[in-house]
Amino acid sequence: MTSRVFSRVGIVGAGQLGRMLGQAAIPLGVRCLFLDRSADVPGAHVAPVLVGDLEDAKLLKQLASQCDVLTFDWENISAAALAPLEKLTAIRPSRAALEASQDRLLEKALFSRLKIPVAAHAAVDDRSDLIAAIERVGLPGVLKTRRFGYDGKGQFVVRKSADIDAALAHVGAGKLIYEKFLSFSSEVSIIGARGATGECAFYPLSRNHHAGGILRYGLAPHRDRTLERQARLYMRRVMRDLRYVGVLTIEFFVMGGRLIANEMAPRVHNSGHWTIDGCVTSQFENHLRAICGMPLGSTLALGHTAMINFLGTMPDRERLLAIDGLAFHDYGKTARPGRKLGHCTIVKSRVKDRNRALENALNLIHWT
Ligand code: AMP
Repeated sequence: MTSRVFSRVGIVGAGQLGRMLGQAAIPLGVRCLFLDRSADVPGAHVAPVLVGDLEDAKLLKQLASQCDVLTFDWENISAAALAPLEKLTAIRPSRAALEASQDRLLEKALFSRLKIPVAAHAAVDDRSDLIAAIERVGLPGVLKTRRFGYDGKGQFVVRKSADIDAALAHVGAGKLIYEKFLSFSSEVSIIGARGATGECAFYPLSRNHHAGGILRYGLAPHRDRTLERQARLYMRRVMRDLRYVGVLTIEFFVMGGRLIANEMAPRVHNSGHWTIDGCVTSQFENHLRAICGMPLGSTLALGHTAMINFLGTMPDRERLLAIDGLAFHDYGKTARPGRKLGHCTIVKSRVKDRNRALENALNLIHWT
């Protein structure tokens, strides 16, 4: 089966993910156009930006009419805003894929239907639901917003019944989910790409270190044959079910040597930034290749990598650049506590050397 090849890509959202997509587009000869709320966004460094609300019907129509395929740096765009665009352009990944990942409850229902393990959970709409959910699922647990939560935002760990009111006050009213708190041994993610003809390519697993719900650094390839096989199998199921086109990320908890799916992102992902400097083809390039109908590129890792996020404060660039094998990425954003401002990737041929360079780099990076 063949598919049409596109070369004009519209991107909803022009944050750092958009910028890295735009950077990957240049050597492919693919032209990008962004839509974002401000002209002062990372994507603006590499491609033009239409400025306005991300769900503005007129601007979305303008974006769609000027591109062959529409994709996302921000996946929370509503189905209602997207639906009218389907007549104007290809939307990849599809509206169904976006919808499935926008709501933690629907996402868990999809995983469960595809026999992918998830944490015990219950929907919570009010205080009495939460009391019932705690009874059913047990303590401790995590109360989360079903939509718009990211990097641990909109979450509260409920350790005892007396935490109920604090949890509801913290997370806020609305549609929520209560999940069992899992004492996992590690967190890993898999990133894969599926082309329009069904061709798939999977990156090696990344082992991700979070603190306060936000990714601090990741190590890849995380070589564990059993987990890798399992992760690929699960990702294939999701991709096939959604007839997915583009890059997809699934984040897992590892418990007792088994994977438990936490969430998925229908896009390129922070835990895949290592692929820019650490793989033959980056996740950004493969996303573009997939959505544009081009053959997928090799996901082969070039060595052992560590990717470290710059959060809240930019580190001393020159001191980091003095570390051999380190690639530096500054997103050009204004510093704000907890904000992702950039990252660096260390690529080494030996794990021992990677770990030593990681330690040196971590001594120069302060998360604020
Ligand atoms: P999320 O926004 O769901 O990706 O959560 C952010 C981080 O919070 C995860 O990467 C975990 O470190 C932690 N977390 C989320 N859900 C749970 C859970 N059910 N049990 C334990 N830790 C969790």
